[in-house]
Amino acid sequence: MISSFFKKLLLSRRIEIDNGKFKVFDKNFMLGSMQSFVFLREEMKRKKSLDTLYKFGEVISKEIYDYIKKFGGGKEEICRFWLNMTNLAGFGEIEIFEVKDKEFYAIINCKNSPIAEHYSRSGKEDMVDEILAGIIGGFFSSWFEKPVVCEEIACMAKGNKYCQFKISSRK
Ligand SMILES: [Zn+2]
Repeated sequence: MISSFFKKLLLSRRIEIDNGKFKVFDKNFMLGSMQSFVFLREEMKRKKSLDTLYKFGEVISKEIYDYIKKFGGGKEEICRFWLNMTNLAGFGEIEIFEVKDKEFYAIINCKNSPIAEHYSRSGKEDMVDEILAGIIGGFFSSWFEKPVVCEEIACMAKGNKYCQFKISSRK
């Protein structure tokens, strides 16, 4: 099934796939298979540099946030677009469970991270969604206008029913 968000992008010509380019709102995107992200993770883990994946996720979100903001999008609109883009990019379906603006605190769930599902079969890993944590952390740093950190506190990879992320202010 094609998401209604994707259909809307297609119909309004906000998405363009041609000449070796995949563009959403004039911005270039690049696709990679889930397995290629797993490969990247394994390499980063071996090099003890999993935090790079987190930073990579942060950049993904900050770019989307700033881009939509530049076009005059309000916070709610940016949030909807960000949720749709994360969904479209195949990182999983994110659900904002709880937000406390004044405390820079939030709880986010993801019920179907493909990377977590992949690792759940091996049963050898703990938390594996560093990129997704960075994506969520990057978004909320912009949302709260304060640097926050996102920590994965439950993961399907280690047998939890779904992945859960906690946002708190950066110390
Ligand atoms: Zn996870």
